[in-house]
Amino acid sequence: MVHWSPFVVSFKKRYPWVQLAGHAGNFQAGEYGRLLKRYCECEQQCLQKLMTDSLRPHVPGYYGVVQKDDHDYNLMDDLLADFDSPSIMDCKMGSRTYLEEELTKARERPRLRKDMYDKMIAVDPGAPTEEERAKQGVLKPRYMQWRETLSSTATLGFRIEGIKRADGTCNTNFKKTKHREQVMQALEDFVDGNTQILKLYLQRLEELRSALEQSQFFRTHEVVGSSLLFVHDASGKAKVWMIDFGKTVSLPTPQTLDHRTPWVEGNREDGYLWGLDNLIDIFSTMLLE
Ligand code: ATP
Ligand code: MG
Ligand code: MG
Repeated sequence: MVHWSPFVVSFKKRYPWVQLAGHAGNFQAGEYGRLLKRYCECEQQCLQKLMTDSLRPHVPGYYGVVQKDDHDYNLMDDLLADFDSPSIMDCKMGSRTYLEEELTKARERPRLRKDMYDKMIAVDPGAPTEEERAKQGVLKPRYMQWRETLSSTATLGFRIEGIKRADGTCNTNFKKTKHREQVMQALEDFVDGNTQILKLYLQRLEELRSALEQSQFFRTHEVVGSSLLFVHDASGKAKVWMIDFGKTVSLPTPQTLDHRTPWVEGNREDGYLWGLDNLIDIFSTMLLE
């Protein structure tokens, strides 16, 4: 696993740009409020298809592939460009964050992994089974599945990846934020108790849900590791977009997903809408309190 930390880069000294996840160096400033993300074919195809889908208003505008310093990049809208000192949150959607094909691959040539065993006991000494303890190792698929149970991914169908608040404080330590109440506390901090912002977010999430339920693209893709990017600022603007399609893959025709049916290996369901339902429910509950 690669470790990263959020960092703030000054884009053309116009405004500070913030990256809450991914590898440092994957992004570069573009012109006219656009952004360059290191090229990935899968993402390119998704962004291209999304430009003519009903999800178009809910994703960054996409402008094709560009080269810079010998590398290829996907050129897209910088979603922070219209905000002043924005507060930002990245929520990774879905009930699992690896593709079925990654699981299949992890099963080839099964090998006991001491490194993964060590990571496991560092987080939870009680996690390994007796057999794993005796062998001081775990298999990679088992590790992948265990990891999803630490955060709210497996239980709520989304997890918070990172939050940066307008005051500059940044938190990417949500790996063990698992329970509804913990998530609510994090969201409450994020909006600083501002119910108007909460309302706008809720409205935007409900619009997104309708768009997802209509979307041809969404029906025909396994959407894994994709995030919702929440952005608001002191002017009272609050918006949400879908980002990160590096692990969003099309299904063989005529297969479709409803994104709510629980995942059993082989059905490729990703729990995306189930997670969104839960997120909407949490925002609604917060507004009632
Ligand atoms: P990972 O797969 O580890 O999540 P990644 O390299 O695929 O990372 P993204 O998740 O797409 O990268 O983006 C990382 C971060 O960069 C996001 O959390 C967000 O803070 C910022 N970001 C990404 N795309 C945009 C965008 N279009 N506008 C503004 N900020 C963005
Ligand atoms: Mg991401
Ligand atoms: Mg990604």
